[in-house]
Amino acid sequence: MGRIAYVNGRYQPHGLAVVHIEDRGFQFADGVYEYFAVFDGKLADADGHLERLWRSLSEIRIRPPMSEAALMVVMRETVRRNRIRDGSVYLQITRGTASRDHAFPHPSTPPSVVVTAKSLDYAKANAKAATGVAVLTQPDQRWARCDIKTVGLLPNALAKQAAREAGAEEAWLVDELGFITEGASTNAWIIDADGSLRTRDTNANILRGITRKTLIDLAAEAGIPVSQRPFTVDDVKSAKEAFMTAASTLVMPVTAIDGHAIGDGKPGPVGMRLRALYEQNARATAR
Ligand code: PLP
Repeated sequence: MGRIAYVNGRYQPHGLAVVHIEDRGFQFADGVYEYFAVFDGKLADADGHLERLWRSLSEIRIRPPMSEAALMVVMRETVRRNRIRDGSVYLQITRGTASRDHAFPHPSTPPSVVVTAKSLDYAKANAKAATGVAVLTQPDQRWARCDIKTVGLLPNALAKQAAREAGAEEAWLVDELGFITEGASTNAWIIDADGSLRTRDTNANILRGITRKTLIDLAAEAGIPVSQRPFTVDDVKSAKEAFMTAASTLVMPVTAIDGHAIGDGKPGPVGMRLRALYEQNARATAR
């Protein structure tokens, strides 16, 4: 059975699913997205992702194309039609298709909705986590509204590519003051030299990661308080551990930055414990 995608009201073979050349997502990156982890055919952290989606839509003034409940039906149906047990759902909503003009089209223009789903082998992902990954620092060259999850990801793509060309998995972005903001598609965390678990605060220009948010709560429950404050590249180099979080990677240990080993160069116990806690909780609460 081939993959199936949902596009504007229809489930279609993935390879034939298309949007119009004047879709504003294609022409202006005028759209937002969400990425959900799927466990046992159910969406992880669904409430958090939907809440952020509604906020992203509202911030750029795209009207929701349907209710949250209807969106959940479409996403679950896409999961079902693709026979996904463990994997992911990608949802994109743009301002729709209209004759090219920077200003918004007529308010009656329906937003475009695309949903795709993919299987993921968590045994493979866990094997990667058991080894850890390397990151490369890159200057943060993004716009000032990184709190909105828009499809305008060119600086993120360029940074990620630079990382991959250097043999690293992810790029960690550095602001003008020398502090890490976040990864190209992940949030960044360290256990600093004093043993404090730290991630950047959301007053900074970062995406408010849903995995990050849930993990802050889970860590607190496990007796590991999280300090939300900036850290530098040198702080990472002297850290005991580091990891990154996203719905796509869950909690992924980071064992090197710019070729410099972090801690003993192996995934640390706190990161591994938090990975297990996150996955356990995500499986138990997915819906
Ligand atoms: N930061 C950026 C820039 C991202 O693109 C993402 C995910 O796509 C994240 C952080 C992690 O967010 P979440 O945990 O909601 O997947």
